[in-house]
Amino acid sequence: MKNPDVIIIGGGLAGLTLTALMAEKNVNVLCIDREKPQETLLDDFDGRTTAISYGSQKVLQEAGIWSSLEKDCCPIESIRILDGGSPVLLEFESREVGGKTFGWIAENRLIRNALYKKITSQRQAGLIAPAVVSGFSVDEKNAHVFLDDGTTYNAPLVIGADGRFSFTREWMKIGTRQWSYKQRAVICTVIHENAHNNIAVEHFRPEGPFAILPMCDDKEGKHRSSVVWTEHGTKRHSALHYTQDVFDAALEARFPSCYGAVHQIEKRFSYPLSLVHAHQYIAPRMALVAEAAHGIHPIAGQGLNMGFRDLATITELISAACKNGQDPGSEEVLKQYQQHRRFDNMAMAGATDSLNKLFSNDLMPVKLARKAGLRIVSRLPFAKKLFMNQAMGAAGLLPSMIKDRDAA
Ligand SMILES: Cc1cc2nc3c(=O)[nH]c(=O)nc-3n(C[C@H](O)[C@H](O)[C@H](O)COP(=O)(O)OP(=O)(O)OC[C@H]3O[C@@H](n4cnc5c(N)ncnc54)[C@H](O)[C@@H]3O)c2cc1C
Repeated sequence: MKNPDVIIIGGGLAGLTLTALMAEKNVNVLCIDREKPQETLLDDFDGRTTAISYGSQKVLQEAGIWSSLEKDCCPIESIRILDGGSPVLLEFESREVGGKTFGWIAENRLIRNALYKKITSQRQAGLIAPAVVSGFSVDEKNAHVFLDDGTTYNAPLVIGADGRFSFTREWMKIGTRQWSYKQRAVICTVIHENAHNNIAVEHFRPEGPFAILPMCDDKEGKHRSSVVWTEHGTKRHSALHYTQDVFDAALEARFPSCYGAVHQIEKRFSYPLSLVHAHQYIAPRMALVAEAAHGIHPIAGQGLNMGFRDLATITELISAACKNGQDPGSEEVLKQYQQHRRFDNMAMAGATDSLNKLFSNDLMPVKLARKAGLRIVSRLPFAKKLFMNQAMGAAGLLPSMIKDRDAA
């Protein structure tokens, strides 16, 4: 592509989605990623699943991939919250709120493959990978992107979608607020004897949340779920290294008995957990989106959903500017983007941080207050509804998901 309107640095789920979305809105867009697509498209590149909200579903629809993805996404009909050794403390049923599902669980590898297929068929999208971005310069009309092989690309706007350790952000000299949770998430897929009945479980344990997310049955009809097992302590003692028998036994001890026998399949993955939030999202002719701007704890399954809201906002602003013959990299456009997104992201980062502090805690007074609070909520229909709308983060579905769902 000779004259892109926008260059996107990073082709993770956010960068690829932004590329497909902008191309669908008639913006000429070039995405550059350092990984080899033949590796990122492999089944074992990313074992995670994503809880897709209604807002994110709309973004995937507008990016042109939802129709091919939907059949492989598992609807969430019910959410159960457990605290420590107690039985179910809170249960939310979709039929209590009009019967619409709470969202869907989608496999990251399927989203990535669908996006790649889409982008390679779009006339207004280009993807260069593998290629490492090693520098930038900015002048009055353009931002210039330098690759480490000596190639240069120019566009009126460069968007950094290059993840938590964003090189683009660093080059823009934008500082961050950040800390480590001293926790890791061990991720895997399991098969279990009995059907999950589209139930998502979030079990708050002192070491961190243990989530069971319903997936579609496999081709042989085996029942599958995705596990997010938060742990702390040394890497050497991580569940990542348990033998298969020990790991399966530990899973069964953590799974409610209604699942029957549980067996982990494929590979286990591990992700260190941290919070990072950029002080600014913009600089002359440059902007940051998704994890390049904000990375949060996965306790609420909201990281990518937040990122998708950035993508929807920036696409709307840029496509309108291009359509009206305006400069897509102008200060005015970028300021509007930052104004729309930074506060929302800051609130979500704060909410997930507090949630993790409140629930990954075994101090007796905190434990008792938490239990009493949850019991009151479960017994009062009014409080429960309020909680469903305000505090779904505990189950991986934050208020925006509910709002999105109600609006859909
Ligand atoms: C355990 C876990 C569970 C999660 N569950 C959920 C969930 O249920 N729902 C949800 O919404 N979110 C969830 N998230 C968050 C979500 O996975 C992330 O927000 C998302 O994957 C981040 O995507 P990204 O594209 O912003 O960044 P990345 O995936 O990090 O992509 C960045 C890309 O930039 C490229 N890159 C970097 N530097 C350069 C360079 N110099 N030149 C070229 N390319 C470069 C990299 O190769 C990479 O492809 C979860 C996260 C974790 C850890």
